[in-house]
Amino acid sequence: MSTTFQDDKPVTSSLLIMGYEVVIGFETHAQLSTRSKIFSRAPTAFGAEPNTQACAVDLALPGTLPVMNKGAVERAIEFGLAVGSHIAERSVFARKNYFYPDLPKGYQISQFEIPVVQGGAVAFYLGDEKKSVRLVRAHLEEDAGKSLHEDFIGQTGIDLNRAGTPLLEIVTEPDMRSSAEAVAYAKELHKIVTWIGICDGNMQEGSFRCDANVSVRKPGAAFGTRREIKNLNSFKFMQQAIDFEIRWQIEELEDGRAIQQATVLFNP
Ligand code: ADP
Ligand code: MG
Repeated sequence: MSTTFQDDKPVTSSLLIMGYEVVIGFETHAQLSTRSKIFSRAPTAFGAEPNTQACAVDLALPGTLPVMNKGAVERAIEFGLAVGSHIAERSVFARKNYFYPDLPKGYQISQFEIPVVQGGAVAFYLGDEKKSVRLVRAHLEEDAGKSLHEDFIGQTGIDLNRAGTPLLEIVTEPDMRSSAEAVAYAKELHKIVTWIGICDGNMQEGSFRCDANVSVRKPGAAFGTRREIKNLNSFKFMQQAIDFEIRWQIEELEDGRAIQQATVLFNP
C-alpha cells in the first residue's frame, strides 16, 4: 500500500511511511482553574487590561515570597487519580533558569526531581483499536507572562497578567506512532482535564497547549533524533504540524542529512 502526504488527512497508525516508523511524545501545559495564581493572590481571569492582574509577587519585587495555592495542588492530585498515577506524598519545587522579561524573577518555579504526579496512562480508542499512552509525570509550575512584539513599533510590550498562572505540565512516554494517534491522545487528555474540572480547556485562550516531540526511524532501529513543535493550540494545527514534520524529517534523511535536535513553531 502506498502512502501519500496530505496535510489534512490523518496518517494511519499501522502504516510505515516510506519505510519509516513515526515516534511521538507529548508535553501538554494545562492551566489550572484556580481563581488566584499558584504563588500569589492575584486573579487568573483571562482578557483583562495588561498588567492589571499582576501583584508584587508576580512582578518579582524584592522581598516578596511565594505562597503555595492549595487549590493547584488539589487539582494536580485529582488529575493523577484520574489517570492511575502515583501521587507523591512529598514533592519538591525547583528554580528553572528563564531569561525572558515576561517572567521577571529570571527563573520559573517548577518541579524537577520529585513531581507531584508520577506515572499513569491515558487510554482511548483510535477507530476500533484500543490505545494506551503512558505518562512519565505531571508537574506543577507557574506560567510566564506575555511578550507582545506586534503592538509597538520597534519595541516589545510585556503583559504580566499571565505570570504565575498555575500550570500542570503532563509528559508522555514516546508511545505514539502516528499523527492520528497523537491527536486522539490530545483529545482524550482534553476531555479528562475538562471533565474533572481542573482546566477550562479553552485552547484559543491558551488554557491547553501541546508540544509535540516527533522523530522517525527505520523499524527495529533505536529512536531517532526528535524535534519539538511548541505550543500547538488547535487539534487541526496539531495534525497538520506533525504530518508536515514527519514529511520534512523523512525528506532530510532520504537526502542524506542528519536530523538536528531543535525546537520549532508551526506556522499554518
Ligand atoms: P525535555 O524536557 O528536554 O523536552 P524529555 O526527555 O523530558 O526532554 O522529553 C520530552 C518529550 O519528548 C517526552 O514526551 C518524550 O516522550 C519525548 N521524546 C523523547 N525522545 C523522543 C524521540 N526520540 N522521539 C519522539 N519523542 C521523544
Ligand atoms: Mg520538551
